[in-house]
Parts: sequence; structure tokens; C-alpha cells
Amino acid sequence: MDRPDQTTHFGFRDVALGDKQALVNDVFHSVAQRYDLMNDLMSAGLHRVWKDIMVNMLNPPRTDRPFALLDVAGGTGDVAFRAAKAAGAGFRATVCDINSDMLDVGRGRAAARHLDEKVSFVEGNAERLAFPDRGFDGYTIAFGIRNVPRIDRALSEAFRVLKPGGRFLCLEFSTVDVPGLDRIYELFSFKVIPTLGRAVTGDADSYQYLVESIRKFPRPNAFADMIRAAGFSRVGWQSLSGGIVALHSGWRL
Ligand code: SAM
Repeated sequence: MDRPDQTTHFGFRDVALGDKQALVNDVFHSVAQRYDLMNDLMSAGLHRVWKDIMVNMLNPPRTDRPFALLDVAGGTGDVAFRAAKAAGAGFRATVCDINSDMLDVGRGRAAARHLDEKVSFVEGNAERLAFPDRGFDGYTIAFGIRNVPRIDRALSEAFRVLKPGGRFLCLEFSTVDVPGLDRIYELFSFKVIPTLGRAVTGDADSYQYLVESIRKFPRPNAFADMIRAAGFSRVGWQSLSGGIVALHSGWRL
């Protein structure tokens, strides 16, 4: 149970823990239709490379051997589509997201790509997954975990739904620590992204939240400790693109 006085961050604002999810949901309802276009514009297409690196690490079988992926906070299905493309006939993905607008965009994309047999979309909360224990071979979460109010619960749920031998992978924005790049990144984040967000989605505040939330997310070593605390083994992380993104991994053994 949450204590009524418990607070957390919503970007740079302190908010009651129980209020954060509704604020996050407003952000993604507002940007859903233009979400994929904005991802390409904000990252100059790099989000595709980062997701492909995660899918390579997931390494789903290229054969008809069954492999069940759960992509949490999967939004419009990007990671699941990439994994389906890389995998063989036995691959199935479930995209779980709390936001019906993001899922609706994803369902449309799956149909257009003829992937609706392989990729299904389910509304749900990362903190309380409506899936049985030990049902999935892989769990991925890309740019989602920092939006979840109780990260420790989401990580425990990831552990619960993975089979023993299952792989946990998490992509999240991180801390740029390359001298020079850090200042450019800071300027780009706080000056360019909200302005771009206003021009493309009509909503600068949502993108202001997104860049602020990146700054508030734990550093990679601290986040790796949280993954270990949830029960995962052989936990590691690698920094991508000068620290813009970190790819975290672990196994349920
Ligand atoms: N993974 C997708 C991608 O990389 O393109 C979407 C990432 S988007 C930045 C973050 C997603 O997290 C949104 O679709 C949002 O609805 C979802 N989300 C936020 N809180 C959530 C929660 N508690 N449970 C499940 N999904 C959540």
C-alpha cells in the first residue's frame, strides 16, 4: 500500500505517487497519433538502431521453435514488430501498454504490416501484469520504465512473468557523459525538443515532461541494482550513443 504522503517525480515536479500515472497517461493520449513521427524527428532515426540492438540481444529463434515475448509499455508496437521481423515462425509477441490510444495506433500498424497474427495488443499496467507466472521467454521495455510510478513493482512483475531462463531487456534514456556532447544534448533536449513537440503535436508540455523525466531517472548503476533486487541474475548494461541511451539486461535463472 502507498502511504498518502508518498511523492515521486513527474518530470521536475514532485507529485503524489498516486497521481503520477494519470499525468503520464495524459501525455501519451495527447501525443499518440504523432508519437512515431516525433520519435524519428527527436532521435534523427536513432531510436530504430537502439531498438534493433535490443532485438539482436534478445536473439529470438529464427526457426519455428516457440518463443513468447512480452513487450511492456510497448506503445505503438515498434519493438514487437522489429522482433517479429527478426524471428522465425514460432515467434509471438504481446504488446502491453496502459494507454488505449497508443495501442490503437499499434493495432493499425500491425494490420498494415500483416503482423496481426504474430503481435497482439493488450491494455495493462506494468505494475500489475494480468499474465500468469513463468509464461514468457522474453520481456522487453523500451523508453517505458521511467514513466512507471513504482519501478520496483514493474521489475518484480517482469521477473514473475518470465520463465526460468527468460531474458529481461530494458532500453532507457541515460546520462550523456562525453565532454562537449553533454552540452549539445542539454541544449537540444530543453530548447529543441519541446519546440518540435509543439510544432508536430501541438503539445510542448508533454515533451518538456519527457526530457525532464530523463534527467530524473536513476543512473545506470543504480538502476542495475534495482534489477538485481527484483531477483534477476547476470545483470549488466551497456551505454549507447555516448550515453544517450542505456541497454540493461538480466536473466531469470
Ligand atoms: N516502447 C515504445 C517505443 O519505444 O516506441 C513506447 C514508449 S513510450 C515513450 C512510453 C509508453 O509507456 C507509453 O506508451 C505509455 O502509455 C506507457 N506506459 C506508461 N506507464 C505505463 C504503465 N504503468 N504500464 C504500462 N505502460 C505504461
